[in-house]
Amino acid sequence: MAEDVTILGAGIVGICTALSLLERGQRVRLIDRGAPGQETSFGNAGVISPWSIIPQATPGLWRSIPGMLLSGNKPLAVRAATWPRMIPWGLRLLAHGSETRTRAAADAMAHLCGPSIDLYRRHLAGTGHEALIRDSCYIHAFRNEDAARAAFDSLGYRIRAEKGAPMDLVDHPALKQMEPAIGPAYRAAIVIGAQARCTNPGRMGQVLAEKARAMGAEIIQDEVQALTPAGTGWQIAGKARTYDAARVVMAMGAWSAALLRPLGYRLPLMAERGYHIECPAAGVSLENSIMDMDGKFVASSMEGGVRLAGQAEFAQADAPPDPRRQEILARQAREVFPDIVTKNARFWMGRRPSFPDSLPVLGPSERHEGLHFCFGHSHYGLMMAPKSGEVLADHLTGVRPNVALEAYRATRF
Ligand SMILES: Cc1cc2nc3c(=O)[nH]c(=O)nc-3n(C[C@H](O)[C@H](O)[C@H](O)COP(=O)(O)OP(=O)(O)OC[C@H]3O[C@@H](n4cnc5c(N)ncnc54)[C@H](O)[C@@H]3O)c2cc1C
Repeated sequence: MAEDVTILGAGIVGICTALSLLERGQRVRLIDRGAPGQETSFGNAGVISPWSIIPQATPGLWRSIPGMLLSGNKPLAVRAATWPRMIPWGLRLLAHGSETRTRAAADAMAHLCGPSIDLYRRHLAGTGHEALIRDSCYIHAFRNEDAARAAFDSLGYRIRAEKGAPMDLVDHPALKQMEPAIGPAYRAAIVIGAQARCTNPGRMGQVLAEKARAMGAEIIQDEVQALTPAGTGWQIAGKARTYDAARVVMAMGAWSAALLRPLGYRLPLMAERGYHIECPAAGVSLENSIMDMDGKFVASSMEGGVRLAGQAEFAQADAPPDPRRQEILARQAREVFPDIVTKNARFWMGRRPSFPDSLPVLGPSERHEGLHFCFGHSHYGLMMAPKSGEVLADHLTGVRPNVALEAYRATRF
C-alpha cells in the first residue's frame, strides 16, 4: 500500500504529526536514522504548558546577555567556530525584542501551546501510559525578592496574565511548603498553575511511536541524505535505499535546514544545545517543574530521578558535548536542593532547533509542491508538538486549520 505522507524525522514533532494524520485516515511513513523520540525529544525538561508563550527575545534582553556569557555557570555560551553564524542570528533575535514583536510572537506561540495538555492526554488515552503526563505548576524561583516582584510586573508575565494564566507571587515559606526540598537561597517565586509535566519524555516518544505503528504507520530506520523533486513528487535518498514520496513533511529538528539548503532554502536555524543531568537516587523529590531564574535551568522529578535541564550553548549541531557542564549542573543542583545526591548522575546533551523569533516553520512550502515544514520549535517543542501536528494534518487533508499559518511561514526570514 503506498503511503500518503512521508515524514522525515521521528522526534516528538514527527511522531505527533504522524498520529494526527493517522487519525484522519492517512497512510503514513516515518523515516528516522535512530529510534523514535530519542534525540532532543528524549532529554528535555518535560514542561507542557499553555503559558510558556513568551519568546526568547523580549524588551531589554540585550542587557542580560553579557552577564550570561561571562557567568561561570555558563547559562549561555558560543563556541568560537560558531560566532560568524551567531552574530547575524543574535542581531535578528535582538531585533525581535520590541513589545509589539514580543506580543505578536506570544499570540502565535499561544496557538500552539494552548491545547497541548489535552492533545497529549488524547494521544495517550488507551495506551496504558496515561500517567506519563501529570498536572503541575511551573515555579519560577528567584534568589531575590525584589527581582521576583520586578519580574511579575514585566511584559512577559503581564502577557501571560492577559491571556488568563493563573499566577501568584509567593514568599519563601509558601515556596518551601510547595516544594520542601528547595533551599534557603530561594527567597520568592512566581507560581504558574494549570499546566502539566511529562515524567519521561523519551518513553513518551516510544509509546506514541508504538501507537502510530499500531495505527498503521510504517516506521523505517534509515539516514536521509538528500531530498530532490522527482516528477510530481519527491525522491528521498536514504543511506540504505531510495524512497519515492508523493508528499513529504520535513520534521528533522535541528538537522532540517541543512537538508533543505540544496533546494535553495537559507533558513536561520541554529542548534541551540542544552544539557541535563539526571540524579537516579536523588534523595529528594519534586511535585512541580521548578525553573531557577538565574541559572536558566528547570528541575523536575522524572521516572529516572531528579532531572536538571537547561543552558544554551551555540555550536555545530554535532560537535562533542562540553564535559564541564556536568559539574556545573551538579553544583547548581546542590544550590537549589541542598540535600540532593548527585552521585551517578547521567549526563546528556541535546539540540534545540531554534529560529530567532522562537517560532517554528510550519505549513506548506511556498516554492515546492508537496513539501511541508514542521520544525524549529526551539525551547518549546515538547509542548508545541501535538498542536503543530494537528495544524499540519488539517492542512494536508484539505481542512482549513483553525490557526492562521502566516506567522510560521518559511519566507518570513
Ligand atoms: C535541555 C533542554 C530542555 C528542554 N525542555 C523543554 C521543555 O521542558 N518543554 C518543551 O516543550 N521543550 C523543551 N525543550 C525543547 C524540545 O526538546 C525540542 O524543541 C523538541 O524535542 C524538538 O523536537 P523535534 O522532533 O523537532 O526534534 P528531535 O527530537 O531532535 O527529532 C529530530 C529527529 O530527526 C532525526 N534525524 C536527524 N537527521 C536525520 C537524518 N539525516 N536522517 C534521518 N533522521 C534524522 C533525529 O534522529 C531525530 O529523531 C528542551 C530542549 C532542551 C535541549
